[in-house]
Amino acid sequence: MTFADLGLDDSLLDGLDAMGFEKPTPIQEQVMPHILEGKDVIACAQTGTGKTAAYLLPVLDKISRQEFQHTSALILSPTRELALQIDHAFQGFSYYTGASSIAVYGGGDGQTFEREKRAMTEGASVVIATPGRLISHLNLGYVKFNQIDFLVLDEADKMLDMGFFEDIIKIIGFIPAKRQNLLFSATMPTKIRELARKIMNDPFEVNIAISKPAAGVTQTAFVVYDRQKPELLKRILTQRTDPSMLVFASTKQTVKDLERDLRKKGLPIRAIHSDLSQEERESVLLSFRSRQTKILVATDILSRGIDIDNIGLVLNYDVPGDAEDYVHRVGRTARAETTGEAITFIGEKDQRRFSDIEKLIERVIPKTEMPADLGTGPAYEPERKISSGKNKRPLFRKKRRPGPGGAQ
Ligand code: ADP
Ligand code: MG
Repeated sequence: MTFADLGLDDSLLDGLDAMGFEKPTPIQEQVMPHILEGKDVIACAQTGTGKTAAYLLPVLDKISRQEFQHTSALILSPTRELALQIDHAFQGFSYYTGASSIAVYGGGDGQTFEREKRAMTEGASVVIATPGRLISHLNLGYVKFNQIDFLVLDEADKMLDMGFFEDIIKIIGFIPAKRQNLLFSATMPTKIRELARKIMNDPFEVNIAISKPAAGVTQTAFVVYDRQKPELLKRILTQRTDPSMLVFASTKQTVKDLERDLRKKGLPIRAIHSDLSQEERESVLLSFRSRQTKILVATDILSRGIDIDNIGLVLNYDVPGDAEDYVHRVGRTARAETTGEAITFIGEKDQRRFSDIEKLIERVIPKTEMPADLGTGPAYEPERKISSGKNKRPLFRKKRRPGPGGAQ
């Protein structure tokens, strides 16, 4: 199937051509005909499969056939970064269409708020917003949402994780009941089903979430003692020649420590975490995207949805708590059929969790030998109950079970 087979407007085909999109990805091929027909759609597919275009193109197709300018679509996104990224994709696709957009995501100064207000008063074709900031505008009364045809929830799983359920319901109160609802997500927890039941109308559903990293990613792991991690990380980062490398760590503190330590060792590294202001985050991302910064160390705020091209290496400094997050982190490399590599450090307490990931992705990830001078690592024994022998007191003694009488 080609984009032309879908009957997309010529202005969009020109835009796609300019962006080098040759044919639709599987999720695009499956959902676009239904969206173009006017149906509600729930689409679940892993990160990096091209979900943005799957909804933006049909939305833009409708807009490019309209006669006068008004806000036709509202896209809700969990984070500022994702809102900006969707807006960026929008700029590309809509280049020849005359449609306009505004990303509404908070932070910034009074001027930003005024600019958002103006765009929404004048009826930007598409509003791409984070829920909280949008509600601030809605409460002030000037937003013109009375002709909205499309409501898109992007990264719906993430929005619910972040506690936006009530906000989403509230926002829906401001838009027409007769509208087309499009819900995109990388995973499909039951919370999403609830939301869908509440707001959607007989949705067509596509689920191609296989929870597996893209085929082009080579995945390996080191089984390590925690104390071996810093030196091993430094070794790998200095030896690799990739123009862009992304290091993930689970806590903000670890991210800050790694940035400081590695910078001291002369590595070209910057960090991104939730303590940075919006401007700081953007400047770090920009510098990484443009390859001025070779290494980025980040918490999981970056692992979902953010699209940075051609990352040669994703390195998990620790095993993420949630197996799905592993897939999201590793999904930062090998986007859209390129190749990349993902290396994970399996620390002393991470073995069980890593084996859960291996089960989820239905694949045993090869364990690499430690470089000899860094000493050997522990054995990989994820099924081992509780370490015995070396511990003088077995750990299970700490768990006091109630006696036979069940006294509390
Ligand atoms: P998702 O939202 O599913 O994580 P994105 O929409 O961010 O994925 O797309 C991932 C990457 O693939 C982006 O760089 C995007 O430009 C690219 N892409 C999407 N669709 C196509 C296509 N049909 N042809 C080529 N590249 C594509
Ligand atoms: Mg996406």
